[in-house]
Amino acid sequence: MTLWNYYHTPASVDEALELLRSYAGKARVIAGGTDLLLDIRQGHLPPPEALIDITRIGELCDLHQDGDWLVLGAGVTHTRIVSTDLIAARATCLVESCGVVGGPQVRNVGTLGGNVAHALPAGDGTTSLVALDAEAEVILDGERRWYPIRELFVGPGMSLLDPTRDLLIRFRFKLSGPYEATAFKRIMRPQGVALPILGCAAWVRLDESGEYYADVRLCIGPVDRVPVRAEAVEAALCGQPVGSDAVERAIQAAHEGLHPRTSRYRATAEYRDEMIDVLLRRVLPLAAERAQTGQAVPEGVGIE
Ligand SMILES: Cc1cc2nc3c(=O)[nH]c(=O)nc-3n(C[C@H](O)[C@H](O)[C@H](O)COP(=O)(O)OP(=O)(O)OC[C@H]3O[C@@H](n4cnc5c(N)ncnc54)[C@H](O)[C@@H]3O)c2cc1C
Repeated sequence: MTLWNYYHTPASVDEALELLRSYAGKARVIAGGTDLLLDIRQGHLPPPEALIDITRIGELCDLHQDGDWLVLGAGVTHTRIVSTDLIAARATCLVESCGVVGGPQVRNVGTLGGNVAHALPAGDGTTSLVALDAEAEVILDGERRWYPIRELFVGPGMSLLDPTRDLLIRFRFKLSGPYEATAFKRIMRPQGVALPILGCAAWVRLDESGEYYADVRLCIGPVDRVPVRAEAVEAALCGQPVGSDAVERAIQAAHEGLHPRTSRYRATAEYRDEMIDVLLRRVLPLAAERAQTGQAVPEGVGIE
């Protein structure tokens, strides 16, 4: 079975866009191919005439600090993210989520951009980017602009991007500062499926006493058709003293506001609902402790 006829490795964004234009919808962007090739083989996507590999484009593989911001190309692999000390220390949740994507072979080629462009509400890298309040730079219909990450997603597996025409270029987000920290945990079946039963990423800022939540961003997924922030849970935490009472308030708000669904391959809605408690009890104290101590060592990387 021929999956495609031509494979191109453009060296610049302009070249990639020109190639996409020349195939007029019959070519598709590929990064690591860990989602795309399965989708084509399993018949979820039609075989494209050509694949346009973006992993040799310098801009998409760039990773640098710009003041308090981290700028991360869409073609940066999970392995590279996990081995970047700056991200481990100041965007710890991203290392913790990229560090459990698949096994080493998948992480070595799979990219953060591919995770986001695949647009699933359970994507591990995506969950952390939402908690980090990241922005994504894209070229849509030939126009380059930054979007808040949440605005990219329009439905399960659907984003504003049309990968036969558009390009996801890079992400940017603020690195954690004093009294700020992040954490990510997930519940996963040991084998057989590529996405978690439930994942949870938290970003917290404590007040200067280190005793109260001043601001919180939480992404728990999948609980909706697109990746979402758990805004009612965030509101329940803000202004509360750090500790088990706050976590229990968060759990109560989560049960009132979040309604995970049963998925045939992963878990029932009831099980997922119970796992919300487990994840919040793990993630919130960990993020708060990191924010209090200013020390963050990623947990769980590469062990699932
Ligand atoms: C065995 C296995 C285990 C996995 N485990 C996990 C897991 O634990 N957690 C998890 O979240 N995911 C998991 N995945 C899914 C996958 O590995 C990740 O989503 C990965 O990040 C996808 O990146 P990629 O570079 O391989 O994307 P690709 O497969 O190359 O592309 C994915 C989609 O995005 C489009 N695309 C890619 N880059 C761009 C771009 N720059 N601009 C526009 N469109 C683009 C492609 O056209 C395609 O539609 C697993 C996959 C496998 C095979």
